[in-house]
Amino acid sequence: MPTRRPVTVHRISGPVIIEAEGVCGRAGSWRGCRQRILWGRTPAGKPIPLDPAPDPDGIYTAHFATCPDAAAFRR
Ligand SMILES: [Zn+2]
Repeated sequence: MPTRRPVTVHRISGPVIIEAEGVCGRAGSWRGCRQRILWGRTPAGKPIPLDPAPDPDGIYTAHFATCPDAAAFRR
């Protein structure tokens, strides 16, 4: 498992702490796309799914911005 580390995420102000690896779709009632994701925690303490690879600037993207099953995040 990855060590807990702070990263920067698009549209999130403040560091997000990476806490675990996961697969989109296994968290509770989400349908999900089954892609590998990372679980982070925002400065507000909310869990947030992230795409596993940062962009060339080292900034991560929230998975619900790219998930092909994003409707599962908007209920
Ligand atoms: Zn997904």
